[in-house]
Amino acid sequence: MMVVGHKGQSIRAEYCLVCGSSRAIPVFHPRQSPGPVVRCCECGQVYVSPVFQSEGLISEGPVIKQENPSLLHSTNLDDIEHFWEASFLPHKLRDQLALQTNAKDALARIARLHPPPGHLLDFGCGWGFFLAEARSQGWEPFGLEPLPGPAIHARVSAQAQVVTDTLHDDTFPAESFDVVTSFQVFEHLPDPAAVLGQIVRLVRPGGLVLIEVPNIATWSVHLLGRYHRHFVADHLNFFSAETLGRLMERQGLQVMSSYRPARAMTMHHLLVGWGRRLLPAQLSSALAKLPDQILQQIVRLNLGDIVAVIGRKPLR
Ligand SMILES: [Zn+2]
Repeated sequence: MMVVGHKGQSIRAEYCLVCGSSRAIPVFHPRQSPGPVVRCCECGQVYVSPVFQSEGLISEGPVIKQENPSLLHSTNLDDIEHFWEASFLPHKLRDQLALQTNAKDALARIARLHPPPGHLLDFGCGWGFFLAEARSQGWEPFGLEPLPGPAIHARVSAQAQVVTDTLHDDTFPAESFDVVTSFQVFEHLPDPAAVLGQIVRLVRPGGLVLIEVPNIATWSVHLLGRYHRHFVADHLNFFSAETLGRLMERQGLQVMSSYRPARAMTMHHLLVGWGRRLLPAQLSSALAKLPDQILQQIVRLNLGDIVAVIGRKPLR
């Protein structure tokens, strides 16, 4: 279900959801943002406030319109076709090797602090490429995903228990998981502190929470300002390692590690995906015709524009 704010009325609290301060200074108002971007005077968190128009924000799932609700539990890949997200699947499958490489990196960091086996929940699991890799490394995979098409794919391809929904207090029993991960979700949440509080409740004492988000504290944001690709219609929160760590500490987690993950991508994604935005159209379509051995090569980039923090729930 999409949430659309009433005209002139903000859809979320107008204070910093990291530290609670209501003192903030304006930064700028990017063209696509759902409101002006401000910076908290207390902790430095950058966020949209007030949030006015909010198309594309998912606040309560599952995201389903006229489709048959029984599809929410489907384990049939053919059912993905019923949903608009289906058109993205071929691109995702094309990048599968790169997505697996990224998943391996995150899982290696988790395993250093908490080796498998155990129950692992990916909050906002998307198409399930991370969960599939987690299963292959010995984790019992669980997912939560409000978009039904990706949820079906995750359920089948990772043989995971996937709930098609947003998180509610009764979605999972308390202390069910050894690890909860969340990749590129927290920047979209109207209330990241409340959601993290719910997540912490789901983690067993001694268990881990890994959150990865776009990084605001990086050179490219200073360079590009409001034109940076972080500032899109459905991004509300812009974290740094510091503010993300602070959010986690305020929810009772102990910060174990924070880092800027490298991003693996196929040459296809780099040349054709990014190329479409950055290069002349003729050049970009010529690159798309390169042989598959080249387009399927994996490259690893680290632009510092992603940040991840791992927190541990203290033992009682
Ligand atoms: Zn703050």
